[in-house]
Parts: sequence; C-alpha cells; structure tokens
Amino acid sequence: MTTATRTRIDAVIDTLPTRLSIGGHEVDSADGRTFAVHDPSTGDRFIEVADAGPADCLAALDAATATQPGWARTPARRRAEILSRAYDLVIERGAELALLMSLEMGKAIGESRAEVAYGAEFLRWFSEEAPRIQGRYTHAPAGGGRILVTKEPIGPVLAITPWNFPLAMGTRKIGPALAAGCTMIVKPAEDTPLTLMVLARIFADAGLPPGVLSVLPTTRAPELSHTLTADPRLRKITFTGSTAVGKRLIAQAADQVLGTSMELGGNAPFLVFDDANVDDAVDGALAAKMRNGGEACTAANRFLVADSIRDEFTAALAQRVSALRVGAGYDEDTQLGPLVNQRQLDRVHGLVRDAVARGATTLTGGRQLEQPGHFYAPTVLTDIPADARVLHEEIFGPVATVTGFDDESDAIAAANATEYGLAAYVYTNDLNRALRVAEALDAGMVGINRGAISDAAAPFGGVKQSGLGREGGSEGIEEYLETKYIAI
Ligand code: NAD
Repeated sequence: MTTATRTRIDAVIDTLPTRLSIGGHEVDSADGRTFAVHDPSTGDRFIEVADAGPADCLAALDAATATQPGWARTPARRRAEILSRAYDLVIERGAELALLMSLEMGKAIGESRAEVAYGAEFLRWFSEEAPRIQGRYTHAPAGGGRILVTKEPIGPVLAITPWNFPLAMGTRKIGPALAAGCTMIVKPAEDTPLTLMVLARIFADAGLPPGVLSVLPTTRAPELSHTLTADPRLRKITFTGSTAVGKRLIAQAADQVLGTSMELGGNAPFLVFDDANVDDAVDGALAAKMRNGGEACTAANRFLVADSIRDEFTAALAQRVSALRVGAGYDEDTQLGPLVNQRQLDRVHGLVRDAVARGATTLTGGRQLEQPGHFYAPTVLTDIPADARVLHEEIFGPVATVTGFDDESDAIAAANATEYGLAAYVYTNDLNRALRVAEALDAGMVGINRGAISDAAAPFGGVKQSGLGREGGSEGIEEYLETKYIAI
C-alpha cells in the first residue's frame, strides 16, 4: 500500500460512526457490547463498533412504530426529495464510500466505485417511483357500487443484508421502503457494517426525519431477528443472503404472518453455444465470474460450453483469469481482491479440493495465496465429475468450472438441474435460439450475450430456492405496499 493510500484510509477511519443509529441518535448498545471489524486484505482489525442486542432492537422498533404514521402521511413528493438528496450525497461522498467498501469488504477499488454508482441509483430510481404509486377506481360489473383500490405502506420493515455489496444491498431495500412510506430497521452484515452506518448519517443529512431509519450492526443476528419478528408491530422482513438463513427467516415470519421478500443464493449457469462469438463469451465470462471476486449471487457458477468450442473457450478463459492482478482491495491496480474472511476462503478451497480429489483438472489457480489476508488464486477447473460439490453449491469465490454439452436440450437440462434459479447467461448469435433458451431456463433473470445484468430499473430476483419477490424496477416498490379495497 502506498503512503498516500494509507493516509486516505486513516482519514476515512477517523470519521466513521461506531455506534448504533436509533431514532435519529448515535448510541452505544444498551449492554455496552462492541465488536471488531477487520480488513480482509490484511486480516487486521481496524475499528470497533457497537453490537446491538435485544433492548436496542426494541428501541429501534419503538422509533419505527412511532414515526410510521407520520412518514406514511408525508407527501410522496417530499419523500422523493429526501431520497434524491441522499442520492446526491452518496455520489458526493463516493470516493470515501468506495475506499470504505474496499477496506471492510476487500473488493477491488474499481468495483467499489462501480458499486457507489449502482447503489446510489436505487435511491434515484425510487425517488422517481415514490410519486407514481397508483390506485384505481372502477364500477362494479354488476352495478350498484364502485371499487376504489389504493396502496398503503405495509408498515415497519426489518431489512437484513449480506456483506458482498455493502452499499447496494442496503439501498435496494431502503430506497423502495422509504419511497413507499415505510419505516425501516436495517441490520447490515457483521463483516461490513460500516457502509450502511455511514448511509444512516447521509440520510440524516438529507433530511430524513429521526426514527424513520435505524441501523443496527450486531453479532447477534438470530437474537435480533427473533426479537423483532416476534413483535406484532413489525410488518415485513426483507432479506438478502444465503438460502439456509432465508428459510429460517421465512419460518420465523410465519408466527406474525409477516410479509417476506427473499433474495437468496444462486448457482448460475453460463451457456455458450457453438454459434457464439468466443471472444465476447470470454469477456462476458470474466464479468459474470470474477466481478466482485466471484462473491456475487449472480456469479456464473457453471460454464456449460458446446463441445466443439470448449477447448478454445477454456484455454482463453484460463489465460485471462491467470493474468488478473490480485491484491489489496484499496490498491489502485488491483483487479481481484481477497475473500471477505477466513471462513469463505476455507469454504472455497474446500470445494476446489473436493473437485480435484474426484478427478477434476486445475488449469490455473487452485490454491490459497501465502500472504496475510484472505487471498485465493483465481482458478479454472475442467473435467469435473457430475457429483463434485462445486457444481451443486454456490461457489462465491474466484473459481470457474467448465463442462461441455452436446446439444441444446442437454444444455438446458444441465442448466436447470439445480434447486436455485436466480441468474442465467446465454451466449449465442442466433436470436431464435437465444429466446427459446431464455424461456426454457428456470431463472428469474437471463443475460443474453451479456455477463452483467444488474440495473436499478430492472426487476432483480429469483425463482425456486433463490427467493421470493423482486427488487428494483417498477416491481421493487410493490414489496412495501399493501392493497386496500374500498367499496363505495
Ligand atoms: P448469510 O445468509 O450468512 O448472511 C446474510 C445476513 O443474514 C447477514 O447480515 C447475517 O448476519 C444475517 N444472518 C445470519 N443468520 C441470521 C439469523 N439467524 N437471523 C437473522 N439474520 C441472520 O449470507 P452471506 O454469507 O452474508 O451472503 C452470501 C449469500 O447471500 C449468498 O448465498 C448469496 O447468493 C446471497 N446473496 C443473494 C443476493 C440476491 O439478491 N439474491 C444478493 C447478494 C447475496
């Protein structure tokens, strides 16, 4: 790290919030507990933050409940202006937020900058959606009455977010909830709590009334979710994270019949047909696999390539992957940062070891880097037996697996042979095939000749065990609205 980078990081750390944000105040946790946040590029602790417990959860819910009626009555135009101001502030403070994300999560600084733009976009998009919440007025078909349908905010919401996109996974929930007129309690991931703690300050500066948004970093996630989902004042839970935790939260939500939105795991197939442009497909593969170090729910998990072009594709991919510059997230020339923590590093290496033990071939990588921090060499595997865990579990790391297929129906069957259904990618120059395959894939999102698909204006979400509901697009705000029918 250069001295200039160290100085800039120290300056960011000096200004960071370290306490819970509840009811418009920054406060210590009621029981005084704190926890350390680490830099994955070195493994070193760089700050200690408050650790919310059950009393803090109830205080945040008191604030959310007290402010809910007033926020719901706030004119949509005013809610939109606050979101729009928050968008401007995120962009203004983008350099600081990007450095912070590289520091707490490890992603390459270029990707952090891209996340600032992407994450902020949800605030802008939903500022534009807030004044466009629609109802309808019709005559009852049988006559003698009128049907008035309106939308109302669902009520106080709990949002739980993962560590892989520390800003965007928050704004994707906060933007639509605030636009809809809901108050919200956010629990950021324990590895990366700081970005959303800073965002709480940004919203205060943007004029959000105190109590509408609380941010509770904690190491006690199960206690937090049990405390809040057991309280009838909470009306909704929105979660992004693993399918295993999502299932637990759906079960917990049943007690109070809470609304749930679930953005869960993925096992994205990336299909390359023999009529595709191989260079384009390799570019797309790099984006779909190595973006965010592979730590993305939309990351391509399985490259399925037509047998006739498989060797050409695999060789080009291995060459590009092995040339990636691995380093600390905040160093300017880094293309691939560390994994977020030792647990993820061990998990990814375990998947590679399992595949190799069953007979897979490692074309490049396949090992941890011997240096401080949680670095894994970018990896390409081929000749992978069908029962290798790496083909069935979400990899969430810089490991590409390539297998061949014979014809289109085999490719579709292989792509769909998973309990997940989030993203899928198709490379082909045949428009009929592109549409036919996209329609046949069990996925909430399909990229055609594109390795990156996320867009605040598009509905993001999965089918099967990848989740319930959509974020972004015109669909995103619906998750935070209830329909009321008034008979006249
Ligand atoms: P995770 O499920 O371990 O944790 C996600 C969040 O849930 C964290 O904030 C964690 O503290 C919290 N949590 C864990 N146990 C909990 C409990 N019992 N009660 C309440 N909260 C609890 O997932 P992760 O490792 O942080 O994130 C990676 C996962 O997220 C991957 O599976 C990835 O696919 C998924 N993800 C999905 C999307 C999507 O939009 N579909 C986006 C990003 C990440």
